[in-house]
Amino acid sequence: MIMEDERRAEADGAGSKVRTFGDAEPDDYAKAFSLEGGEDFDLHVDLDAEPEHESDVDFGPVTGWRPANCLETLKTQINARWPNRRKSSDGMIGDDRHCAVVTDKPSDHCAHVRDGGVGVVTAYDITFDDRAGMCDAHAVVEAIRRSKDPRVKYIISNGKICSSYAVGQVQPWAWRPYKGSNKHTKHAHLSVVATKAAYDSTKPWVIE
Ligand SMILES: [Zn+2]
Repeated sequence: MIMEDERRAEADGAGSKVRTFGDAEPDDYAKAFSLEGGEDFDLHVDLDAEPEHESDVDFGPVTGWRPANCLETLKTQINARWPNRRKSSDGMIGDDRHCAVVTDKPSDHCAHVRDGGVGVVTAYDITFDDRAGMCDAHAVVEAIRRSKDPRVKYIISNGKICSSYAVGQVQPWAWRPYKGSNKHTKHAHLSVVATKAAYDSTKPWVIE
Protein backbone atom coordinates (compact mmCIF):
# COMPACT_ATOMS: atom_id res chain seq x y z
CA MET A 1 0.00 0.00 0.00
CA ILE A 2 2.86 2.37 0.71
CA MET A 3 4.16 1.95 -2.80
CA GLU A 4 0.68 2.46 -4.18
CA ASP A 5 0.31 5.69 -2.25
CA GLU A 6 3.66 6.92 -3.49
CA ARG A 7 2.68 6.17 -7.06
CA ARG A 8 -0.54 8.07 -6.52
CA ALA A 9 1.33 10.99 -5.03
CA GLU A 10 3.34 11.25 -8.23
CA ALA A 11 0.15 11.27 -10.27
CA ASP A 12 -1.16 14.18 -8.22
CA GLY A 13 1.03 16.59 -10.13
CA ALA A 14 -0.60 15.70 -13.42
CA GLY A 15 -2.98 18.68 -13.55
CA SER A 16 -6.44 18.76 -15.04
CA LYS A 17 -5.99 17.21 -18.45
CA VAL A 18 -9.10 16.04 -20.20
CA ARG A 19 -9.81 12.36 -19.60
CA THR A 20 -12.03 9.93 -21.38
CA PHE A 21 -14.83 8.39 -19.39
CA GLY A 22 -13.03 5.08 -19.29
CA ASP A 23 -9.70 6.16 -17.86
CA ALA A 24 -10.76 7.46 -14.46
CA GLU A 25 -8.84 4.78 -12.59
CA PRO A 26 -6.40 3.77 -11.22
CA ASP A 27 -5.18 7.09 -9.82
CA ASP A 28 -7.08 9.00 -7.17
CA TYR A 29 -9.63 10.29 -9.63
CA ALA A 30 -11.08 6.89 -8.81
CA LYS A 31 -14.69 6.45 -9.65
CA ALA A 32 -16.95 7.60 -6.88
CA PHE A 33 -19.53 5.17 -5.51
CA SER A 34 -17.91 1.99 -6.71
CA LEU A 35 -15.76 1.93 -3.60
CA GLU A 36 -18.23 1.42 -0.81
CA GLY A 37 -19.83 -1.84 -1.81
CA GLY A 38 -22.90 -3.03 -0.02
CA GLU A 39 -24.28 0.42 0.65
CA ASP A 40 -27.61 1.36 -0.78
CA PHE A 41 -27.60 3.38 -3.93
CA ASP A 42 -27.06 7.05 -3.15
CA LEU A 43 -26.53 9.89 -5.62
CA HIS A 44 -24.92 12.26 -3.09
CA VAL A 45 -27.49 14.93 -3.98
CA ASP A 46 -29.29 17.53 -1.88
CA LEU A 47 -32.74 15.95 -1.68
CA ASP A 48 -34.21 19.04 -0.01
CA ALA A 49 -33.02 21.69 -2.47
CA GLU A 50 -35.36 23.58 -4.77
CA PRO A 51 -34.80 23.00 -8.51
CA GLU A 52 -33.12 26.39 -9.03
CA HIS A 53 -30.15 25.10 -7.09
CA GLU A 54 -29.59 22.32 -9.57
CA SER A 55 -27.24 22.79 -12.48
CA ASP A 56 -28.64 22.97 -15.99
CA VAL A 57 -28.28 19.53 -17.44
CA ASP A 58 -27.13 19.15 -21.01
CA PHE A 59 -26.85 15.59 -22.17
CA GLY A 60 -25.19 16.58 -25.45
CA PRO A 61 -22.02 14.89 -26.62
CA VAL A 62 -18.76 15.56 -24.85
CA THR A 63 -15.26 14.46 -25.73
CA GLY A 64 -14.27 13.62 -22.16
CA TRP A 65 -14.29 14.96 -18.68
CA ARG A 66 -12.12 16.91 -16.31
CA PRO A 67 -12.36 17.88 -12.66
CA ALA A 68 -13.38 21.42 -11.80
CA ASN A 69 -10.14 23.31 -11.26
CA CYS A 70 -11.20 24.36 -7.75
CA LEU A 71 -11.49 20.69 -6.77
CA GLU A 72 -8.09 20.00 -8.31
CA THR A 73 -6.78 22.81 -6.11
CA LEU A 74 -8.41 21.29 -3.02
CA LYS A 75 -7.04 17.83 -3.78
CA THR A 76 -3.55 19.24 -4.22
CA GLN A 77 -3.86 21.12 -0.92
CA ILE A 78 -4.96 18.14 1.15
CA ASN A 79 -2.40 15.84 -0.47
CA ALA A 80 0.32 18.36 0.41
CA ARG A 81 -0.95 18.81 3.96
CA TRP A 82 -1.36 15.04 4.59
CA PRO A 83 1.01 13.36 2.12
CA ASN A 84 0.33 9.87 3.46
CA ARG A 85 -3.41 10.21 3.83
CA ARG A 86 -5.62 7.28 2.92
CA LYS A 87 -7.51 7.68 -0.35
CA SER A 88 -9.60 4.53 -0.26
CA SER A 89 -12.91 6.40 -0.35
CA ASP A 90 -11.78 9.28 -2.57
CA GLY A 91 -13.96 9.77 -5.61
CA MET A 92 -14.36 12.26 -8.43
CA ILE A 93 -16.11 10.85 -11.51
CA GLY A 94 -19.22 8.74 -10.98
CA ASP A 95 -19.27 5.17 -12.22
CA ASP A 96 -21.48 4.00 -15.09
CA ARG A 97 -24.25 2.69 -12.86
CA HIS A 98 -24.37 5.95 -10.93
CA CYS A 99 -24.42 8.20 -13.97
CA ALA A 100 -26.97 6.16 -15.94
CA VAL A 101 -29.68 7.24 -13.52
CA VAL A 102 -32.00 9.87 -15.03
CA THR A 103 -33.28 12.21 -12.35
CA ASP A 104 -34.16 15.86 -11.88
CA LYS A 105 -31.35 15.93 -9.33
CA PRO A 106 -28.34 14.70 -11.26
CA SER A 107 -25.21 13.78 -9.38
CA ASP A 108 -22.45 16.36 -9.55
CA HIS A 109 -20.05 13.42 -9.93
CA CYS A 110 -21.40 12.86 -13.45
CA ALA A 111 -19.80 15.64 -15.51
CA HIS A 112 -23.14 17.18 -16.46
CA VAL A 113 -21.65 20.68 -16.47
CA ARG A 114 -20.56 21.39 -20.06
CA ASP A 115 -17.57 23.61 -20.76
CA GLY A 116 -16.34 23.85 -24.33
CA GLY A 117 -17.54 20.35 -25.21
CA VAL A 118 -15.93 18.83 -22.13
CA GLY A 119 -17.86 17.52 -19.17
CA VAL A 120 -16.80 19.05 -15.86
CA VAL A 121 -17.12 17.08 -12.62
CA THR A 122 -18.15 19.43 -9.81
CA ALA A 123 -18.06 17.06 -6.83
CA TYR A 124 -15.29 15.46 -4.82
CA ASP A 125 -15.36 12.77 -2.11
CA ILE A 126 -12.56 13.03 0.46
CA THR A 127 -11.62 9.93 2.45
CA PHE A 128 -12.02 10.11 6.22
CA ASP A 129 -8.70 8.89 7.62
CA ASP A 130 -9.20 8.06 11.29
CA ARG A 131 -5.51 7.75 12.10
CA ALA A 132 -4.14 10.36 14.50
CA GLY A 133 -2.87 13.44 12.71
CA MET A 134 -4.18 12.29 9.35
CA CYS A 135 -6.79 13.81 7.06
CA ASP A 136 -10.06 14.05 8.96
CA ALA A 137 -12.27 14.79 5.97
CA HIS A 138 -15.16 15.80 8.19
CA ALA A 139 -12.98 18.43 9.87
CA VAL A 140 -11.78 19.64 6.46
CA VAL A 141 -15.30 20.24 5.18
CA GLU A 142 -16.28 21.83 8.49
CA ALA A 143 -13.45 24.34 7.99
CA ILE A 144 -14.72 24.97 4.46
CA ARG A 145 -18.26 25.41 5.78
CA ARG A 146 -17.11 27.92 8.40
CA SER A 147 -15.20 29.87 5.75
CA LYS A 148 -18.45 30.24 3.72
CA ASP A 149 -16.46 29.81 0.55
CA PRO A 150 -18.64 31.08 -2.32
CA ARG A 151 -17.64 28.12 -4.48
CA VAL A 152 -19.56 25.71 -2.25
CA LYS A 153 -22.91 24.34 -3.44
CA TYR A 154 -23.37 21.82 -0.61
CA ILE A 155 -21.42 19.57 1.74
CA ILE A 156 -22.37 16.11 3.08
CA SER A 157 -20.62 14.81 6.19
CA ASN A 158 -21.45 12.27 8.92
CA GLY A 159 -25.20 12.07 8.34
CA LYS A 160 -25.73 15.78 7.79
CA ILE A 161 -25.77 18.22 4.89
CA CYS A 162 -25.34 21.98 4.58
CA SER A 163 -25.68 24.24 1.58
CA SER A 164 -24.73 27.74 0.57
CA TYR A 165 -28.43 28.41 -0.05
CA ALA A 166 -31.35 28.34 2.37
CA VAL A 167 -33.63 25.30 2.38
CA GLY A 168 -37.05 26.03 3.84
CA GLN A 169 -36.47 27.48 7.28
CA VAL A 170 -32.87 26.31 7.40
CA GLN A 171 -30.42 29.14 6.85
CA PRO A 172 -27.49 28.92 4.42
CA TRP A 173 -24.49 27.08 5.89
CA ALA A 174 -26.51 25.48 8.72
CA TRP A 175 -26.37 21.70 9.05
CA ARG A 176 -29.56 19.67 8.52
CA PRO A 177 -30.06 15.89 8.45
CA TYR A 178 -28.95 14.12 5.27
CA LYS A 179 -31.75 11.91 3.90
CA GLY A 180 -29.67 9.78 1.55
CA SER A 181 -28.92 6.16 2.39
CA ASN A 182 -25.15 6.62 2.49
CA LYS A 183 -24.53 8.58 5.66
CA HIS A 184 -21.10 9.67 4.49
CA THR A 185 -19.06 8.41 7.40
CA LYS A 186 -16.19 6.99 5.31
CA HIS A 187 -15.84 10.16 3.27
CA ALA A 188 -17.10 13.73 3.09
CA HIS A 189 -18.69 15.09 -0.09
CA LEU A 190 -18.20 18.58 -1.54
CA SER A 191 -20.26 19.91 -4.48
CA VAL A 192 -19.37 23.24 -6.05
CA VAL A 193 -21.60 25.63 -7.97
CA ALA A 194 -21.84 25.32 -11.75
CA THR A 195 -20.59 28.83 -12.51
CA LYS A 196 -17.24 28.77 -14.31
CA ALA A 197 -15.83 31.67 -12.29
CA ALA A 198 -16.47 29.54 -9.20
CA TYR A 199 -15.72 25.99 -10.26
CA ASP A 200 -12.52 26.90 -12.07
CA SER A 201 -11.20 29.26 -9.38
CA THR A 202 -7.84 28.07 -8.09
CA LYS A 203 -7.94 30.19 -4.95
CA PRO A 204 -6.69 28.14 -1.98
CA TRP A 205 -9.35 26.68 0.31
CA VAL A 206 -9.51 27.07 4.08
CA ILE A 207 -9.02 23.42 5.09
CA GLU A 208 -8.33 23.64 8.85
ZN1 LIG B 1 -19.90 12.39 -3.36
